[in-house]
Amino acid sequence: MTIAQTTPARRGRRCDVCALPAETRTKLETQLAEGMSFSRISRAHGAPSRDSLRRHVTSGHLAPDIADAVARAHGLDVVAVSGRIAEAAQRAREAGLLALEDGDAALALRAIDVETRTLAALAAAGVEREADAIVAASAMDLARALYTVARADAHVADALTAELDRRGLRDLADDVFSQFSEPKGIGS
Ligand SMILES: [Zn+2]
Repeated sequence: MTIAQTTPARRGRRCDVCALPAETRTKLETQLAEGMSFSRISRAHGAPSRDSLRRHVTSGHLAPDIADAVARAHGLDVVAVSGRIAEAAQRAREAGLLALEDGDAALALRAIDVETRTLAALAAAGVEREADAIVAASAMDLARALYTVARADAHVADALTAELDRRGLRDLADDVFSQFSEPKGIGS
């Protein structure tokens, strides 16, 4: 059940964490799920760098149950937070419009105040358009769902790699290939 059998020539940039022996990787992921900081884990002898650990987590390499535990322990990622702020801004705007229609000036003013503060929070996070934040959050959700399916089915992983290659997205194809080209020791 490996992609390597069908595309042996591929050389991808590998995830340093995924490349570890299953036992070591499980230990690191358990520490992350328990809330130990990226910095502290990376300081252990022979451990991957903080950036490698982050990339492993944010690229969706974790099994879903571990990913949930890590998200709970470390807080939501920036993409998810921005998406939620943008949604809050939209809800505030809709509430404000409704309040105006109903002639409730006080409620409309409160809604405008909330909308302004949420948009300011987005701007502070470097997001210029709230639509960007929502699209990014949706893309992350889609990627996670796709990775979950690919993890469970080697044919899906193969098809995904081939399609990314066909689109000229070589780096992404390499990334997907390196994740699913060997048996997983976690959550499967
Ligand atoms: Zn990884």
